[in-house]
Amino acid sequence: MAILFIVDLVDGKVKKGSFEVASYASKLAANTGTEAVGLALGTANDSDLADLGSYGTTKIYHASNNAFNSFDAGVYAQAVKDAADKIGAHTVIFSMGLTGKAVAPRVAVKMNAGIVSGAVALPDTSNGFVVKKGAFSGKAFALVSINTENKVVSVTPNAYGATKGSGTATVEAIDLIPAASRITVKEVKRQQGDVAPLPEAELVVSAGRGMKGPENWGIIEDLAASLGATTACSRPVADVGWRPHHEHVGQTGVAIRPNLYIAVGISGAIQHLAGVNQSKTIVVINKDPEAPFFKAADYGVVGDLFEVVPKLTEAIKKFKAQQ
Ligand SMILES: Cc1cc2nc3c(=O)[nH]c(=O)nc-3n(C[C@H](O)[C@H](O)[C@H](O)COP(=O)(O)OP(=O)(O)OC[C@H]3O[C@@H](n4cnc5c(N)ncnc54)[C@H](O)[C@@H]3O)c2cc1C
Repeated sequence: MAILFIVDLVDGKVKKGSFEVASYASKLAANTGTEAVGLALGTANDSDLADLGSYGTTKIYHASNNAFNSFDAGVYAQAVKDAADKIGAHTVIFSMGLTGKAVAPRVAVKMNAGIVSGAVALPDTSNGFVVKKGAFSGKAFALVSINTENKVVSVTPNAYGATKGSGTATVEAIDLIPAASRITVKEVKRQQGDVAPLPEAELVVSAGRGMKGPENWGIIEDLAASLGATTACSRPVADVGWRPHHEHVGQTGVAIRPNLYIAVGISGAIQHLAGVNQSKTIVVINKDPEAPFFKAADYGVVGDLFEVVPKLTEAIKKFKAQQ
């Protein structure tokens, strides 16, 4: 009756969200008197997988077949279902990143399981299995009860957090036969860079139409670099091609939950807020004191971004140099 959590890999490396789901699944297992085990699909270093043990898990099953190296939601879903059957797991936990979003619902169908997507807290198992999730673009919470024996939960990135302790997990090979694929992956293009991809980022510097044009983005990149933050933008900025579409956050873009969101020259329209209002701390820089974003802000600077942003970057660099 183990709880199975899915280890997200990118180019063979364990993604940050996996630490969070390992912690989440391990705590849930402790609360329900069972054990949490992980499943990694594709090439990965077994010692990296064993490190997941410091997040409370005892065992990682590793299906290293090359066929799992190119992501295919249908193939992954079948493999997860087969693994759950072999292990005897009735509950499967995903991180709600790109993989989780595509695979979790498919696994739920295959397992005849109730599903909660976007959990923000551990299930309350005192009387059934009740999961808290964000609703209405993060404006409210819903408590959803799963009544089926099989359960699938995907956890909103950065909502629960990873708790690191000590220990290593044993890594055990598991033989999963990849299902026939209905798609062909011709090319995989990865975003380059040292910073975390937007859905996982803890620090985000975002800018909007107040920037006037793409040629001015240097000050945003400087501010982001000074913090080690990921850059983002409002939708119109991506629509006119000032920034790439993968940076667009909001209702129709990426929904994020960083520890710090700095919004520069963004008005704070409801559709933008829908994707960012779960951020732990919001800092707004806008020359219009009536900009709606100030109502959602923890800290606000009323001023011209072309003066404020370089000064802020300078101050951060100076502060870091003193540490
Ligand atoms: C169905 C639908 C879905 C949408 N989805 C999204 C979405 O996912 N994400 C999203 O972002 N938008 C979305 N939008 C668009 C959204 O409604 C707003 O139009 C958009 O967010 C506005 O972008 P902005 O704040 O960059 O630009 P603007 O509204 O033009 O605001 C620019 C801001 O910059 C400030 N400013 C200007 N110059 C300076 C300066 N020198 N210094 C400081 N501040 C300055 C201004 O005071 C203003 O507040 C959606 C709209 C619809 C209808």
